[in-house]
Amino acid sequence: MFLMSKWSVKWAMAASLIGFCTGQWGMAAQESVSLTISGEVSPLMAPVAGQLTALFYESYPRLIERFEKPDRSAPRHIRLVFDKGLTVPAYCSGAEIHVSVEWLTQHPEDVALLTHELTHAVQAYPPNGPSWMTEGIADYARLIYGPKVQPGWSLPARLTQKQSYRNSYRITARFLQWLDEKHPGTVDKLHRLMQEGTFKLEAFQTVTGKTADELWQECVADLAQRKAAP
Ligand SMILES: [Zn+2]
Repeated sequence: MFLMSKWSVKWAMAASLIGFCTGQWGMAAQESVSLTISGEVSPLMAPVAGQLTALFYESYPRLIERFEKPDRSAPRHIRLVFDKGLTVPAYCSGAEIHVSVEWLTQHPEDVALLTHELTHAVQAYPPNGPSWMTEGIADYARLIYGPKVQPGWSLPARLTQKQSYRNSYRITARFLQWLDEKHPGTVDKLHRLMQEGTFKLEAFQTVTGKTADELWQECVADLAQRKAAP
């Protein structure tokens, strides 16, 4: 469609420009990264497309630097597709990320979903690992490498015994954040095992000396004692 391709070209140009101007390339990834946007990008979506573009150049080099597999490069070029009629807010497949036009129309503040999806692009986990780890690490990365302020999205301040580190997404992410404070480097080690396809639950004990269940109990108790953030 002519209109779409015109916008696609415009946004590809804007993407290059913003990346160049913000100078993100020098600080993290050695090679430059790039983004093209296509799909149903109407003029109404232009502001959010611009924010996603800026966020891409902020987040992606840092995600590559921390999470890229040493012996297999993460994609340097990402295709972002604005999709109408998606049943989920977004998904990542290889180097292509689809975002829902309807979701972004209703939740234009949720641009950090891109950081979550970009994490999947770098993870490239083989399919045998547990999805709660995949999603937990993606939300953990969203917290750290997404915008400082993420309206409508945060990790829970506290966790309960009824929940579990297997609950995925933000709950697992909160557990991982706590875990990495207590045992620095643990998230990276677990991530690497996921990437190698050798992750097992016992890895928590191998890395920290405590089982996942013991760590979870400790995490719940520890967070319960912390004062609420001002
Ligand atoms: Zn995900």
